[in-house]
Amino acid sequence: MSKRWDEDRWGPHIHCIVCGNAMQEGKKICSPECQAKYDKEIGKAKKQQKYNYLMIGLMGAAILGFFLILQFFPG
Ligand SMILES: [Zn+2]
Repeated sequence: MSKRWDEDRWGPHIHCIVCGNAMQEGKKICSPECQAKYDKEIGKAKKQQKYNYLMIGLMGAAILGFFLILQFFPG
């Protein structure tokens, strides 16, 4: 990563959020290939998030159940 960008020569530019290639401003992703990669990653992250919520829900239910059991069977 030792590339140096000359702003005067290249003008305003940003880098592809997937592969890091320099490109014109106004876009986030440089190519359909990177777009596909990006969509895949987003899909993965969303799946992971759903799983996390599910785990939190299950934990909450388990804790609630634990307290209910203690209520019904003290000692
Ligand atoms: Zn790219």
